[in-house]
Amino acid sequence: MDKKLKPCPFCGGTAEAKWMSGPGWLVKCKKCSARTIGGTNLENDEHAARAAWNRRAQPANEPLTLDEIRGMDGEPVWIAEANIWAIVKCEQKGRWAGIPFAVGYWQRINIEWNIKQRRLMCYRIKIGS
Ligand SMILES: [Zn+2]
Repeated sequence: MDKKLKPCPFCGGTAEAKWMSGPGWLVKCKKCSARTIGGTNLENDEHAARAAWNRRAQPANEPLTLDEIRGMDGEPVWIAEANIWAIVKCEQKGRWAGIPFAVGYWQRINIEWNIKQRRLMCYRIKIGS
């Protein structure tokens, strides 16, 4: 099997081809479990399942807008400037309502950065992966 699987279009994770009784051959992301649909013409054909996975379009990895980030409370984002993953924290109530922060670990310290104030570029998928 020479064909390399592209990274997951949703999370950038590594994918693997698997045979499962029932659906047959499918390609699945090891990180988020996104997968091709088994059955039909893919079920007996690992090549076809791999080709189906690789045919899927890669989403553009544009920097997230503040509005998008506000809707991602609890989700990971890639912070390009710092080369780290961080979790979005965006409270619904109180003084910090609607102001997204990036919570994570950077150069051995815990950070909680105000994304807007620091003009951080956040991405869904790691840059360069
Ligand atoms: Zn994935």
